[in-house]
Amino acid sequence: MQKAVKDYIRTIADFPHEGIMFRDVTTLFADARGFRMAVDQLLHPFAGERIDKVVGLEARGFILGGAIAHQLSVGFVPVRKKGKLPGRTISQDYQLEYGEAIMEVHDDALEAGERVLIVDDLLATGGTCEAGIRLVERLGGEVIGCAFVIDLPDLGGRARLDALGMRVHALCA
Ligand code: 5GP
Repeated sequence: MQKAVKDYIRTIADFPHEGIMFRDVTTLFADARGFRMAVDQLLHPFAGERIDKVVGLEARGFILGGAIAHQLSVGFVPVRKKGKLPGRTISQDYQLEYGEAIMEVHDDALEAGERVLIVDDLLATGGTCEAGIRLVERLGGEVIGCAFVIDLPDLGGRARLDALGMRVHALCA
């Protein structure tokens, strides 16, 4: 039987901390068939819709988002952790389990009215993605959807993005 996207992902126990079961997507990215299948499936529900830019969330969202932008022949915009982008940025803070984090985007990365697909490898609490959504919206962009390889619904991210009225697409749990 042919492998599904989920079959290319491995789980590593106790990374980065004891008790965490880390979903490792490097094995998906390393496989030509798996990677192409993931990119195709991430785009599937948006076929025929206008997408002007793909926004990828640091860091694995860059790998997926770059491939998706190339497939769509549109531009790619990175949303990065604080202090990594060289130009003028806007910032958005969000809560982590312990403490706060800040995501940034270049302030000229989008034109007002551009339709944006946000891409990341995994949806957990939804905090990272919500920060990305807010950054896009503050630049005048319209988020038409958020696409993930993995959704961990028990961590509440899906409900959080649903509450924002977001269209969420995930390939596996
Ligand atoms: P959230 O903000 O939704 O709680 O966490 C999602 C972010 O953390 C994503 O950018 C994702 O890459 C990263 N992340 C959290 N847990 C995992 C995991 O088990 N595997 C991978 N690949 N990324 C994770």
